[in-house]
Amino acid sequence: MLERIRIVLIGTSHPGNIGGVARAMHNMGLADLALVAPRCEMITQDSISRASGADHLLHQAHVYTTLEEAVADCTLAVGASARSRTLPWPMLSPRELADRLPAECQPEAARVALVFGREDSGLTNAELQRCHAHVHIPTNADFSSLNLAAAVQVLAYECRMAWLGQANLDKTAASTLPSDNEALSTHAELEHYFEHLERTLIAIDFHDPAQPRQLMARLRRLYLRARPERMEMNILRGILSATEKAAHRKQP
Ligand code: SAH
Repeated sequence: MLERIRIVLIGTSHPGNIGGVARAMHNMGLADLALVAPRCEMITQDSISRASGADHLLHQAHVYTTLEEAVADCTLAVGASARSRTLPWPMLSPRELADRLPAECQPEAARVALVFGREDSGLTNAELQRCHAHVHIPTNADFSSLNLAAAVQVLAYECRMAWLGQANLDKTAASTLPSDNEALSTHAELEHYFEHLERTLIAIDFHDPAQPRQLMARLRRLYLRARPERMEMNILRGILSATEKAAHRKQP
């Protein structure tokens, strides 16, 4: 289960924090580290020293230019956020996230991404809206933001606790967790759908990109909540294609 969990860091600016993240991950048995558009070097004296022996994670880490690329193969992406945002999104506590992990990490090809933001400004609304759910570590409301590596540590610990609980379940051969994630759409498939949806809504004059009124964000929230299966996604895309054709035929 632990090898199916990816830690994604967006726009990190301190090498020491990247090293601290590697250490936190390795302590808890996680190894899949992805960096999106880092704003600093990944392998420095500082990061190696903060990694304290977990620097192999830094050498293995993948670097991407966009969040979409980093989570393209994931069936669940959860954004870690210190603050609540304008448009409410499904919220999980770290424990609720942990409870879902054993099932979310089935089958073997399943990948779950935990997405963390910049030290100075966290995750943007657009990034948060690319996540199925958000996780908030309950902290002092007057001082809510943890250091990046500390936030990763808390969630990595929850992942480990979930894994240990799962290992105990397996031992007693009582595991009856569902394993139907094979059918779920990946992040990349959903993104293609959202692009197609927006194009179609513009073509039928339902959506005016000049006056977006959070429409696409609200639709994203709806579809991400529904977690469509591949087969359902094919139906939805078929409906969009038919809509585009019909709109085209009606044009004078
Ligand atoms: N100053 C930023 C927070 C940066 S902390 C802000 O106000 O948004 C860096 C990252 O650590 C955050 O983007 C988030 O992913 C994670 N983080 C920090 N505190 C957190 C908390 N209480 N709950 C969940 N994630 C947290």
